[in-house]
Amino acid sequence: MNTVPLSPESRIKAVQNSAIARKERALLREQISKGQLSIFAAITDPRESIQRMRVVDLLSSVPGIGLSRAQAILERSGISLTRKIGGLGKHQIRALRNEPTLNKVNPPMGRLIVISGPGGVGKSTIASALRQDPRFWVSVSATTRPPRAGEREGVDYFFISEVEFDRMIQGSAFLEWAEFAGARYGTPKSGVQEGRELGRHVLLEIEIEGAKQVAAADPSALLVFIAPPSWEELELRLTARGTDSAERRAARLALARAELAAAADFQHVLVNSQVDEVIAELVSLATSPQGGQTTPRS
Ligand code: 5GP
Repeated sequence: MNTVPLSPESRIKAVQNSAIARKERALLREQISKGQLSIFAAITDPRESIQRMRVVDLLSSVPGIGLSRAQAILERSGISLTRKIGGLGKHQIRALRNEPTLNKVNPPMGRLIVISGPGGVGKSTIASALRQDPRFWVSVSATTRPPRAGEREGVDYFFISEVEFDRMIQGSAFLEWAEFAGARYGTPKSGVQEGRELGRHVLLEIEIEGAKQVAAADPSALLVFIAPPSWEELELRLTARGTDSAERRAARLALARAELAAAADFQHVLVNSQVDEVIAELVSLATSPQGGQTTPRS
């Protein structure tokens, strides 16, 4: 049999990927062992690293459940010892939900965190980074704008028609929605509550009008404005994007100016000079008991 050997580059990439996967699994197990996350947050975690984790390893991370108890639960639930999370069937998940020891773990409700700020300020980079963190769940919005190159359905957005958007409004399916640069964007309610009940901090990356609606509907939401280091820097980032027509870019610049003026309405303003620092600050705001309880900036 002929096997094609991996190129050195592919081998390095494979080693790097498995190191990232190990780290993601370790972080998730740590959160579960501290009682900060329910195992059902892991079961609904779409990341491949988590879906490939063995159920027995997940259960034995729960406080008070060692390997032998985990094995007993698996046996009662009709789940084999080698079963991976991604291979769990509906009935097996239901059996786990009926296990009293697993449901005793009642993580504190996750926070609702809104990040807003002008286009080009780096909100999506921040959201992508937090998507890798099991403590967070990043909401996927619905939009009527067409997908940009490289954007994926259900990952970046749910790309829907105007008619479907109208239907969702009529069915009260949105937590908030707004119009932006000629298209409509909305946060589907589904997922937000469930994510928070599982102990995850739910992150919405939305524009200002939507942020205001969330604040009005849920005063406990943590509102964070992401600001650019300067207007010049923002202009540079917006024009360097090159994915929009000149007309749309001009509209975005005008909107960005108006959006910058809204920073004062937010509880927290984080200047995105270093994306890693902004992410660390967001994690600290979300996880601190005082997060979101500060008085609004005047
Ligand atoms: P873009 O078209 O560049 O992906 O997004 C345009 C703007 O819409 C950004 O400011 C983004 O944060 C915002 N946005 C994305 N999803 C939503 C949403 O569900 N609701 C609201 N209100 N704004 C959104």
